[in-house]
Amino acid sequence: MKKLVAGNWKMNGGLASNRALLDALGPVSGVNVLVCVPYPYLAQAQQRDPAIALGAQDVCEYAAGAYTGEVSAAMLREFGCSYAIVGHSERRALFGEDDSMVGRKASAALAAGVTPIVCVGETLAERDAGRVMDVIGAQLAAVLDALGPEAMGRIVLAYEPVWAIGTGRSATAEQAGDAHGAIRAWLQRHGVDGRAVPILYGGSVKPQNAAELFATADVDGGLIGGASLVAEDFVAICRAA
Ligand code: PGA
Repeated sequence: MKKLVAGNWKMNGGLASNRALLDALGPVSGVNVLVCVPYPYLAQAQQRDPAIALGAQDVCEYAAGAYTGEVSAAMLREFGCSYAIVGHSERRALFGEDDSMVGRKASAALAAGVTPIVCVGETLAERDAGRVMDVIGAQLAAVLDALGPEAMGRIVLAYEPVWAIGTGRSATAEQAGDAHGAIRAWLQRHGVDGRAVPILYGGSVKPQNAAELFATADVDGGLIGGASLVAEDFVAICRAA
């Protein structure tokens, strides 16, 4: 499958710096490129190269109504979002999102025609305790419960070890390959067509390590935080895919 490289701007940017970044992005042959921008900038990001897909960084689990401060999947769709990141570890750790809420958000996104990029991954303590697949299995099981096996085959997954996010310390290609292979095997064991589900790697991807990570079996692209804010770096990472 064609690799997908997604930029996650997080809560960064401003009208002027966004414009410069968006203007520097264009099609990269053989790769699907996506930028996930903060909600208020979805309107600004309508003016971008149409070869770049647009996404959000979260979505509400409810479709509409009295949910002050929330943004629905249908609203994202209206602004041209084809993807929404769901269950990023920052949302889980800082905003109290649990596995079942992540499942409901993935379901709400799919219902509105927005592909959820569901993030999973372990902390360093969980890795050191040998619990990587226990943790990821529980995260995946909640999404499978919410979606069922057929719809689960229509999402994107991102393996993002918490200890690698924003730390400069990426997983090695071997660690990423092992985790991605185990995730794919988990999907197959649970009646999901795991081959159809792209699995992105995220956590300190940079131009220097992107090619090796992307060349690893079962790594179908990347979710890029810090390096997606620097046009030159993000383009280099897209070209490495
Ligand atoms: P990072 O973030 O590339 O800055 O490590 C990745 C992410 O959180 O999606």
